[in-house]
Formats: sequence, structure tokens, C-alpha cells
Amino acid sequence: TDPSLTFQLLSTAHFAAVAHSQQRRKSPSSPAYVQHPLHVAALLASPASSLHPNPPVEVLQAAMLHDVIEDTETTVQELRERFGDVVTNIVLECSDDKSLSKEARKQAQIDHSPHKSDEAKHVKLADKLSNLTDLMSAKGRPAGWSVQRIQEYFVWSKRVTDSCKHVNPGLGEKLDEIYRSGTFEL
Ligand code: NDP
Ligand code: ZN
Repeated sequence: TDPSLTFQLLSTAHFAAVAHSQQRRKSPSSPAYVQHPLHVAALLASPASSLHPNPPVEVLQAAMLHDVIEDTETTVQELRERFGDVVTNIVLECSDDKSLSKEARKQAQIDHSPHKSDEAKHVKLADKLSNLTDLMSAKGRPAGWSVQRIQEYFVWSKRVTDSCKHVNPGLGEKLDEIYRSGTFEL
């Protein structure tokens, strides 16, 4: 194992944990938010991913950092100084424009995802796979979500990931299994 690679990955995980330390996921047990970006990176490195067994370190770093611009005080400049342009640009590609309404942000993800870099597409796929996995279990999903709201999320998510899945057929297949089964715990 390359010691500098190990250091890069672990220090990125540490940075994400600190950045998200005040945030919780929206499910009844309010788990630490950082479990989600770590899950996204783990999915990309997993045997199910087409990046396995040699996922690019920048993609794994961007996965761990994919929500820090959108959801924390972290600045783009801080990210550039700490992690460089390659990682930072992938994170920016995966960040919603918060000046838009929620409705417009959802539409922008559908419209922009076909034009993103392959690296950002990998992160997008794993991000949706992580969120859908949470949504499928009653304990994992946000409290109070109706069946209709869950179904709408699945439909929207499919529209985003269908234009990305060609870069990672392995995770694409995992997503398609979820969309095909169309079932979730009530
Ligand atoms: P979202 O639908 O965007 O919430 C899902 C997002 O929350 C995920 O993409 C994920 O984003 C994050 N998240 C945090 N915790 C969890 C978890 N446990 N499981 C899954 N995802 C989690 O919610 P908003 O409140 O932003 O609403 C946006 C849109 O939802 C509205 O524009 C509207 O279209 C729709 N809506 C539908 C309703 C209905 O009843 N049908 C009611 C209200 C809204 P990340 O990866 O960034 O953390
Ligand atoms: Zn996310």
C-alpha cells in the first residue's frame, strides 16, 4: 500500500468528518452526516463498482467531500489549497447552486448531469445509490416521508443517474436493481 495514498484518503475522511461535525442525516436516529459521504466513497471503491480494484484517489476524495461546499462553511479556496484543483473541480460539479429554488435545483441536476465529467458522474451515481439505500429502509429514511414522496425521489434519481451510469456499469446495475424492484420497506 502506498503510504502517501493512505495518508491522502484518511486525512480527507478526517476533513469531511470535521466539516460535517455539526450535521446529522435526516432519519429518526439522526446519524452523523459524515456517514453518507464515507458511504459514497466506499461504494466507489467496492467490488460492485467498475472502478474496483483501482479507483482513482481523486474520485474517492471528491466523494468524501461532495457535500462540503453545499452544506458546510468550507470555502472553494480552502478546498483548492488543501486538496488541489482536480478534487475541488469534481466537488464543484457535484454541488447544487444554492441560489436556485429547490425545484430548480432538482431540474438542474437532470439537465446538467449528462454534461458532467466522468469523475463527477461516478460520484453522482454513488451519491444517489447511497441515498436510495437509506430511503429503502424505514429506519434509514427521513421521518414522515410519504410513499408518494419516496416514489418521486426514485423517479427523479433515475432521471439523473440514467445519463451517468455508462461510466460505471457496476454501480449502474446496482441502481437498476433498485429501480426495477420498485419496492421499499414501509
Ligand atoms: P430532498 O427530496 O432533496 O431530500 C433528499 C435529500 O436529503 C437527499 O438527496 C440527500 O441529499 C439528503 N438526505 C439526508 N438524509 C437522508 C436520508 N436519511 N435518506 C435520504 N436522503 C437524505 O428534500 P428537500 O427537503 O430538499 O425537498 C426538495 C424537493 O422534494 C422539493 O422540491 C419537492 O419537489 C419535493 N417534495 C415532495 C414532497 C411530497 O410529499 N411529495 C413534500 C416536500 C417536498 P445529500 O446527498 O445532499 O445529503
Ligand atoms: Zn450526497
